[in-house]
Amino acid sequence: MNKISTDILIIGGGAAGMSAALAASSNRDLGITLIDDNPRLGGQIWRAELGKTKSPEALKLITAIESGRIGIVNNAQVFAAQNENSLLAQTPTGSTEFEYQKLIIATGARERFLPFPGWTLPNVLGAGGLQALVKGGLNVENKLIVVAGTGPLLLAVAEYLKSKEANVVAIAEQTSAANLRRFAFGLWRSPSKLAQGIALRSKLIGVPYLTDSWVESVSSPHVSKGSTSAPLNITFTRNRKTWTIDADYLASGFHLVPNTELASLLGCRVENSFVAVDEFQRTSCENIYCAGEPTGIGGVEASLIEGKIAGFAAADNEAEARLHFAEREKTGKFAERLNRAFALRDELKHLADDDTIICRCEDVSYGSIRDFDSRREAKLQTRCGMGACQGRICGAATEFLFGWEADTARPPIFPVRMENL
Ligand SMILES: Cc1cc2nc3c(=O)[nH]c(=O)nc-3n(C[C@H](O)[C@H](O)[C@H](O)COP(=O)(O)OP(=O)(O)OC[C@H]3O[C@@H](n4cnc5c(N)ncnc54)[C@H](O)[C@@H]3O)c2cc1C
Repeated sequence: MNKISTDILIIGGGAAGMSAALAASSNRDLGITLIDDNPRLGGQIWRAELGKTKSPEALKLITAIESGRIGIVNNAQVFAAQNENSLLAQTPTGSTEFEYQKLIIATGARERFLPFPGWTLPNVLGAGGLQALVKGGLNVENKLIVVAGTGPLLLAVAEYLKSKEANVVAIAEQTSAANLRRFAFGLWRSPSKLAQGIALRSKLIGVPYLTDSWVESVSSPHVSKGSTSAPLNITFTRNRKTWTIDADYLASGFHLVPNTELASLLGCRVENSFVAVDEFQRTSCENIYCAGEPTGIGGVEASLIEGKIAGFAAADNEAEARLHFAEREKTGKFAERLNRAFALRDELKHLADDDTIICRCEDVSYGSIRDFDSRREAKLQTRCGMGACQGRICGAATEFLFGWEADTARPPIFPVRMENL
């Protein structure tokens, strides 16, 4: 097994991790190592665009990092702790142990999926998931696509798909028009978000944006008949009326869930689903910091600024870290307004029927778990959450549907090859 020792180790090469690495590297006496499980840095929003990116912010960061003295390890996924101050990561050629003095966790977030009849059919994908496939080369030219769920990601994804010549037939947003109006009026406090929102909406002129609307079910009646029609038949609800649309793809996502498994595995306190941090982004564990989406879903600006504070603080430059507190307060307030505006409505808890799959890794249906009192009980009796994704998908769904709290994280937090265990 390879072994790499470093002063400051950063897990996650997204906005937060890159920003942390750059800030930490201001202390020239320290060795900094940045690990990401993807072939390229950039995280959810920038990784596929780097090299051809339109984002000056991303370009500036990546150039500074690549030309600096930061050790970058791509294609390395941290899956367990080895000793008190070291982690194990799986790489394409085996496993590597990373030994550190200080650790910054910047592992981002993932989409939340909620179950409804038909959500596991082919061509029903996460909103960010479809966007990632298209970034990876999937051709959606002239494809009929419905984007549904909740949150600003729906607009970003719809705009991206439209820019790739897809025919986005509707965006169905579950939150109310009143919630959205309140959120939009509050955007004057975040001018960059306001400008981003206006730009997105103007690029989506002509695409119906339906509030108070959600997908009730999906079927694929045309597939078995060998028809050339769009394969999905999507049923929507709005103000107690239902109607259907045919489409090639449904891109459905219900805002984001923080990736807290690594922090939790290391013993960091998690409160209300987020990693608890102090003003310097320090977790409850000594010498472990956390930045970006695991501490709160607040968008790219929040991740950048939290990364900067964590990086400076970990590099013993608390005075510089302090200079960014006011900026973080602003992004924090935006995050609060965002999460209020896109809070999930109770009706979404009643979409699944007894046959709807909740845990797709283990084929566990809603009917077989609905009478249990906890995630643990459901897990022991049905294997719900015990498959390859280790409850990453169904855990967030059962938390919403039944109020079940997350189980403690156990190694390996990602599936690994036997020889790397
Ligand atoms: C699917 C999806 C699509 C999104 N699309 C958009 C968009 O189009 N526009 C927009 O403004 N915002 C988008 N967002 C939100 C965006 O992610 C945030 O605004 C911001 O980029 C978060 O930055 P971050 O550094 O906190 O996390 P991320 O950018 O997610 O970076 C975290 C990185 O850590 C890596 N990682 C996680 N765990 C490990 C591990 N154990 N070992 C090694 N590496 C690990 C991840 O693969 C990732 O590269 C999207 C979010 C998601 C989940």
